[in-house]
Amino acid sequence: MTESPSLVLRRARLVPLPGRAAEPAADLGGRGLVDVRVEGGRIASVTPSGTGTGEGASEVVDLDGRWLMPGLWDAHVHMAQWALARRRLDVSEAASAAEVARAVVDELRRTPVPDGGALVAAGFRDGLWPDVPTAELLDRAVVDAGLPPVPVVVVSADLHCAWFSSTALAEVGVDHPTGLLRETEWMPLMAQVDRAPEVALDAWVDDAAAAAARLGVVGIVDLEIADNVAAWYRRAAARPLRLRVDAALWPEHLDAAIERGLASGAWVTPDGLVRVGPFKVIADGSLNTRTAFCHEPYPPVTDGVAWTGALNVEPEHLAEQMTRAARHGIRCAIHAIGDHANAVVLDAFEATGARGSIEHAQLLTPDDVTRMAALGVVASVQPEHALDDRDVADVHWAGRTGRSFAYGDLARAGVTMTFGSDAPVARLDPWAAIAAAVTRARDGREPWHPEQAVNLGTALASSVRSRVTPGEPADLVVLDAEPVPDGDLLRAMPVAATMLAGAWTHRAL
Ligand SMILES: [Zn+2]
Repeated sequence: MTESPSLVLRRARLVPLPGRAAEPAADLGGRGLVDVRVEGGRIASVTPSGTGTGEGASEVVDLDGRWLMPGLWDAHVHMAQWALARRRLDVSEAASAAEVARAVVDELRRTPVPDGGALVAAGFRDGLWPDVPTAELLDRAVVDAGLPPVPVVVVSADLHCAWFSSTALAEVGVDHPTGLLRETEWMPLMAQVDRAPEVALDAWVDDAAAAAARLGVVGIVDLEIADNVAAWYRRAAARPLRLRVDAALWPEHLDAAIERGLASGAWVTPDGLVRVGPFKVIADGSLNTRTAFCHEPYPPVTDGVAWTGALNVEPEHLAEQMTRAARHGIRCAIHAIGDHANAVVLDAFEATGARGSIEHAQLLTPDDVTRMAALGVVASVQPEHALDDRDVADVHWAGRTGRSFAYGDLARAGVTMTFGSDAPVARLDPWAAIAAAVTRARDGREPWHPEQAVNLGTALASSVRSRVTPGEPADLVVLDAEPVPDGDLLRAMPVAATMLAGAWTHRAL
């Protein structure tokens, strides 16, 4: 038998975290310094600094009083989408359809699209635009600029709709009156628009994972609309992974997973870095697309016609699928944004006894917050969305924003939260999520519903899965600054090093 290499991190200062079992190390070291010994990818001991734990270690790293905490998780990522978005024309700042069309023309002038290719832009939010995105508008902008009519697709920030030029519509063989495809019109086309050679895509995903590791990220839940188990098995075979991945299952993959006996948490790769994630179902739409299913209508109600959004799935069908998943040890991650959709999904959790999370949970009635706590359903939330969507919410959820993105209420009710980015909807950056949840403010604006902020300890605890304590995985992040509840500092957190299962994935010390 060979000794597994051991490593000692000397003179670390532990970031205090609330909840779970008490942190023995915190008592040991108090706010003083500790030495952390890592063996076989796990934490072997945490002892007051200078008590001799460095003996026999194959490597000793002096952290010189830097801050140490568990590695960060992003509980909601579309990893291939994020890898693609990092390389796409970003139109997230556009305040009108015309502005997007101008950006598209500028990009086509800068970088002509090769034969058979298409220009794909991403990130638009049309909830407050003065004009309407149409195929005709894109077509005209391209023709007026004297450019050849290449296919142009502009994907919305929330991924729930996409705006096609006429050439792009023809390319995917769709006849559409406006070119703005929503929800079920768009979702089946997503894979076609995203097509990239697998080898290239996997390399871009690896780049994105490296960037995440530089921020202290050690794991993601990948909710890409794809066969994620197969994709990550392939990626792990090609190169060492930089992140742990919970690979989510979509309805079309549920049967196959059950047949193979894959329960949530089962190892996909021999090192256990990739595991089977939750079963994902999309129950309703989104706020920006005004398809989130709400108890009250979206304003304005014209001619007595009230639009409340809609469910994307029949409640009976949802319950059926959740029952099936639960029976086979598969957790459920159900997308619900409007308060009515959240009520329906909580009904389904209650009726089926399934375990898992509601993804987004953006608008909740007070009763449903209580119910969520009682049922032990996790709120998988993306705090940056509160700040991205505050203006849209003030318009489309007028009078209801006090209970939207209600992280304070969720925390006070005892609901477990996990933070995420929903990248590419927001950037894959847990520090941005933590800052947004703690401050409810960005860009120099006054805080939005500060009563729904959470304290720093809750925000950090919602962003990690482990603790710095013996027996836990050696998934660690070393910080050059102490995390304090200051938005600017949190958003610029200097990360000195990141360790995954005892191996460095980022090291700048
Ligand atoms: Zn998502």
